[in-house]
Amino acid sequence: MRGLPVRPQLWITAGLLAVVACALGTAAWWLPAGALRSDTPEGRLSLHAFEVAAVLGVALALLLSILLTRILVQPLNEIGDFASGLSAGDLDRRLRWRVGGPLGRIAADLDRMADELRRRIDEATAEKEQLQAVLGSMVEGVLVVNAAGRIVLANPRLREMLGVWGDVVGRAPLEVIRHAGVDDAMRAAASTSDVVAHEIQLGGGEGRSIRLHAVAFPQTGPRLGTVAVFHDMTDLRRLEAVRRDFVANVSHELKTPLTAIRGFAETLLSVDVPLDDARKYLGVILRHAERLGNLIDDLLDLSRIESRKLPIKLIEVDVGRVAAAVISGMELQLRAKTLSVKLVEGVTPAAWADRRAVDQILTNLLDNAAKYTHAGGHIEVQIEPEAEHIRVEVRDDGIGIPKEDLPRIFERFYRVEKARSRDLGGTGLGLAIVKHLVQSMGGEIYVESAIGSGSSFVILLPRADRQTAAGERRTAFA
Ligand code: ADP
Repeated sequence: MRGLPVRPQLWITAGLLAVVACALGTAAWWLPAGALRSDTPEGRLSLHAFEVAAVLGVALALLLSILLTRILVQPLNEIGDFASGLSAGDLDRRLRWRVGGPLGRIAADLDRMADELRRRIDEATAEKEQLQAVLGSMVEGVLVVNAAGRIVLANPRLREMLGVWGDVVGRAPLEVIRHAGVDDAMRAAASTSDVVAHEIQLGGGEGRSIRLHAVAFPQTGPRLGTVAVFHDMTDLRRLEAVRRDFVANVSHELKTPLTAIRGFAETLLSVDVPLDDARKYLGVILRHAERLGNLIDDLLDLSRIESRKLPIKLIEVDVGRVAAAVISGMELQLRAKTLSVKLVEGVTPAAWADRRAVDQILTNLLDNAAKYTHAGGHIEVQIEPEAEHIRVEVRDDGIGIPKEDLPRIFERFYRVEKARSRDLGGTGLGLAIVKHLVQSMGGEIYVESAIGSGSSFVILLPRADRQTAAGERRTAFA
């Protein structure tokens, strides 16, 4: 607590001393003439008494002044202290005086004011925390600038999206987000009441697409600033591009055999074709029709797998038996090309897989191995257990795949040599189907290959006995 203020104490003391002086003066004036004389014994006595009274009066005045100061000024001091504390942010203190009168009312008002301030500040803090939580958990980026075009707020998502770090408050958007498009959109929005939409590309061609909507606020009255919301459109744009490419690819793939079929059919209809040639043309038509059929089958399979409409039923599958069945089903094809196929399998536990899916995976891989291996080549299917998986490797000593093509060969319609694949009846969808089937069974696939020395496709399928042990047996996978 601060000390008593000097001025009130001085005034009170001076006032009381004046009262004492007046009292003494009045008393002296009222005393009979010569009563305060020092040359008579009576006069000396009353002079002495007068002096004692004066000293006592002064002492009493001083005592009273201290007492009065304490009674009158101390409450004011407390109120002053309390008010300074309040203005400095100390909202927890209260006066709690239980007295009436003007000072009591002031104290009660101050306590109420402190309560109200506390309530409002608590409300404002809660609102701010809520806003921060909302802004922090948003998947969209948010940027707010004030009327002077300086940043007031940039939420964490915006920082992450645009790679903005450090303190940005008070800076201009262009200083922080080095993309003129953002600044242009913010400025355009500031001068209209419409929402301004704009899309920017970050990091060049393969970079990210960010779409922003900016609007000035408030909509009526003087402008306080502009708020912009940023959406990352990269995945959507990529999907759109994939869909566009896919439609273009499918159309192209369908068009090629159709054009051939139409061409040969027209020739057969328009001119007299010798029987031998006609048979040849019909053979070509049949081959292209088969290609069309294969393509449509593969497309339907892929779409069913991707849309999870193909029922995948996980059971214990003896991969060795499935492989043996697939190999024997391909015997004619393999013999025609004088390819040797070896199935290498030790004691292997069952895989936790879908039997039809494993059949299709092995069929596609062996079909590729046969297609892309020269006559007289060797193919080997090796099945062996690993700690958590059954490892299935389909290896050939065929033409191999260039290193730069390896990351893309599981993409739909991706082919190292388009012409060769088409001539061999390929659709470019076989490996895409394989990849999706393996993934839908919780497995993995990878490839190793070198041009001229063959390819090796490895699949890891979950082991059935591990599923049981872990109590994670799944009966269906859709
Ligand atoms: P396709 O129907 O063209 O065979 P896939 O999706 O099955 O389509 O394979 C994609 C491409 O991967 C093939 O066109 C081929 O270039 C390459 N490829 C796949 N398997 C092999 C292999 N065993 N040896 C060499 N290249 C292969």
